[in-house]
Amino acid sequence: MSGKMRALVKHRAGYGAKLQVVPIPEIGPDEVLVKVTATTICGTDVHIYKWDDWAAERVKPSLVFGHEFSGEVVQVGENVKHLSIGDHVSAETHIVCGNCPQCRRGEAHVCANTKIIGVDQAGCFAEFAAMPAENLWKNKKNLEPEVASAMEPMGNAVHTALSGPIAGKTVAVIGCGPIGVMAVAVAKASGASQVFALDINEYRLDLAKKMGADYLIHSGKEEPVNKMAKLTDEQGVDVVLEMSGNPVAIQQGFTMLTYGGRISMLGLPTRPVELNVSDDIVFKGIQVHGIVGRRMYETWQQTAGFLESGQVDLRPMITHRFALEDYEKAFEQMMSGNSGKIVLYP
Ligand SMILES: [Zn+2]
Ligand SMILES: [Zn+2]
Repeated sequence: MSGKMRALVKHRAGYGAKLQVVPIPEIGPDEVLVKVTATTICGTDVHIYKWDDWAAERVKPSLVFGHEFSGEVVQVGENVKHLSIGDHVSAETHIVCGNCPQCRRGEAHVCANTKIIGVDQAGCFAEFAAMPAENLWKNKKNLEPEVASAMEPMGNAVHTALSGPIAGKTVAVIGCGPIGVMAVAVAKASGASQVFALDINEYRLDLAKKMGADYLIHSGKEEPVNKMAKLTDEQGVDVVLEMSGNPVAIQQGFTMLTYGGRISMLGLPTRPVELNVSDDIVFKGIQVHGIVGRRMYETWQQTAGFLESGQVDLRPMITHRFALEDYEKAFEQMMSGNSGKIVLYP
């Protein structure tokens, strides 16, 4: 397919982005061209938009950014057998090498050679996106495009919550951004006895409540470790899902955890964090689990299962919708902190 398309481009090393007309990407024999029906903004996109130290180090302008999307297959490469024109798809955004020791033992989510679309190569804030066919996840046609777009970040929530036992356990979700509130819903759907949601932003705590949290803790207004002790008969919480990346919140997460508990960590602090390894890790005999990406493709199977069964409903956390042209307003809304998932329609 030849021709031009509108795309949101990180056009220079500096703040912002620009809507440009660029060529529709050409596909290779193992690739698929997808007409993007919805795309959602991730925290990573905000780093790229603001052009912070991480973005300046990693991203090479000019680049079509964005990585969370859903769409319809419009062209398939000659080697592609399992997808057809008209299929509705979401995408695993980590393109892995398939050859390293991790990939070969079925742990491709920790492939050291991972390339991320919209970060290391062209992404999806555009009318069309080219993807390796093996990265596409085929959806039922009745799944709303904006929900399908959020399956990728929901996969982070599923991977984090289900990286250990959760049924019948008390769970604290620290950080109620979109992935945090999705983790609340996944923990509830997986049989957690009580889910506590912690944040310092009222808007986000309210979203956590809408997504099923049993108890909200405003960590700026009450001391969360003491509060958690009170709520758990002085036992501490069984499972902590760390989604904030905030150094103080991380320390509190380790301290509020029960003996023999599990902390699964997805949030990214921007500096090293000091921990009391003796008291909070070794003597308590806890498990600490770092979470990156989604298991390929177990996490996608679980995520699709939660959505298709109706056990998880993402609609309450999709709070804003914009046309691609209105990207400046969308990013401003995102940076205000008062949003759940924000959708851009190309
Ligand atoms: Zn993302
Ligand atoms: Zn690999």
